[in-house]
Amino acid sequence: MILPLSYYGQPVLRKPAEPVTVFDDELRTLARDMIDTMHAESGIGLAGPQIGKSLRIFVMEIPPDMDENDQGGRANPFLNGPLVVVNPKIRDLAPKTEVMEEGCLSIPDIRGNVTRPLSLTLDYQDLDGKPLSLKLSFLAARCALHENDHLDGILFLDHLSQVKRLAIKGKLRKLKEQFAS
Ligand SMILES: [Zn+2]
Repeated sequence: MILPLSYYGQPVLRKPAEPVTVFDDELRTLARDMIDTMHAESGIGLAGPQIGKSLRIFVMEIPPDMDENDQGGRANPFLNGPLVVVNPKIRDLAPKTEVMEEGCLSIPDIRGNVTRPLSLTLDYQDLDGKPLSLKLSFLAARCALHENDHLDGILFLDHLSQVKRLAIKGKLRKLKEQFAS
């Protein structure tokens, strides 16, 4: 089932999300619906608050042709298909960073450069509550950081330069008027 998205201006996007404590069929259905919604919206990641659920869960899927390292090879060859991440904790952020343009399904028509670490370790639980760990790099690391931010009420806008933020002020005001209720 495709779920309705939350948009910039809706309070759920700014609220820190609650840990997942129950690993049941309801959670499995939510994860499946989030994957369907991410696909329908042509996104590479989607976090709970973006579909109005203030829960620490996100889904991500990096298409293989976008999963490139700086040598032009696959950055994360073990990533195949959608990944469901519950109660994530990010550690071991690489000191080396990369600047790349980001967008967000919840903030239509706005993109901007964000500096993020090139790699990290993602500790999380799967849909059975089993603790797992992945080393991610390049776009997958960026995506995990962007989605993890959503769980803390942080948007990619918060990482933009002052100049860029000033430049999109009008657009953001319009979005807020459109979606805030
Ligand atoms: Zn986003």
